[in-house]
Amino acid sequence: MYQQWLSKQCSGFCGTQSMVVHWDDTRDGTCPNCKKKETADHPNPCENSDRTKLLTLMADKLGNWMSSNYGHPDLTYWLPRYIRLQGICRFQDLPGLLPEMRKVARSQDLIPWTSVVRGKLSLEIMNLQAHHLICSPSKHNPHSLGKKLISQILQLSHAQWVFRNVSLHDKKVGYMRKIERRPILREVDRLSNTYPSALPLDSRYLLEIDFTSSPEDVENRTYWLLSMKSAIKAGMRNSAEANQRRQLRPRSRTVSPASVNPTHDLTTDSLSRTHNTNRATRTSHQPRKQRPKPFSDAHQLLRSIKRDWSSQLSRPRIRHRAPSFVYLYQDFKRTRRINQ
Ligand SMILES: [Zn+2]
Repeated sequence: MYQQWLSKQCSGFCGTQSMVVHWDDTRDGTCPNCKKKETADHPNPCENSDRTKLLTLMADKLGNWMSSNYGHPDLTYWLPRYIRLQGICRFQDLPGLLPEMRKVARSQDLIPWTSVVRGKLSLEIMNLQAHHLICSPSKHNPHSLGKKLISQILQLSHAQWVFRNVSLHDKKVGYMRKIERRPILREVDRLSNTYPSALPLDSRYLLEIDFTSSPEDVENRTYWLLSMKSAIKAGMRNSAEANQRRQLRPRSRTVSPASVNPTHDLTTDSLSRTHNTNRATRTSHQPRKQRPKPFSDAHQLLRSIKRDWSSQLSRPRIRHRAPSFVYLYQDFKRTRRINQ
């Protein structure tokens, strides 16, 4: 994995922003730390203060390692300082260089600074270090020590790349997270200026929520956006229904068959619900009065017959001299005469 990273860095086809933007439209090609264009040569000479501090820290670590591993004194002193200059000055232009060291620096200036931090040291530097190591009591051979020296320089460059990746891809405070959050924040700012009258009464509390205490909380803002959009739709629907009721109100004031009969009330739902509610209330709280059972025609006739023929058999009161009644009365008198 480390070799793959190194091959990408040295070939220039590493996953920098300007490279990934060729196939990813969400990238803007800028450095997540200093906002300059991030090319393959940018990660090490980045001018961001945190990145510069990291470079200084790693360069000092390189100097300490060289001093503890029989590094050449001039090289141990000047090489970390040359790396910390981030290529703004040539190695040979540094003041105070001894003639031998200036000759080595002149050879190193033939290699760009961005390649130096990728482990590309000149042959003169390696020869100077090898000569010093031979004259020292170290048990390392010049070849293995040269490999370790280059490895220490590569760790410096790898630390910059790791720092850059964390700054770019961190899930909470990373640069990509900020890019994803921008349209959400713009939408929050736009909807936070919504008039309360555009929302239903039970949703107006959404306008009182304060996000200043949690500026990095995107999840709550996303949930708030969804709630606001739903509330705005509900408010628009309520206003449309209110306008419709306002337009239909004059016709509903006139007494019409529709207003009398709730089953034919097609004006608004509320009106029909009112009728249904009233009906339901009446049936639930006010029991219906028991009507007296009406007598049927047969019962009425029987009662009249009993009244006419029971108490006044001798002198039945003739109410209607219908032909049938006259016949019956004559038959009654004839039967009574016979019995007497
Ligand atoms: Zn940068």
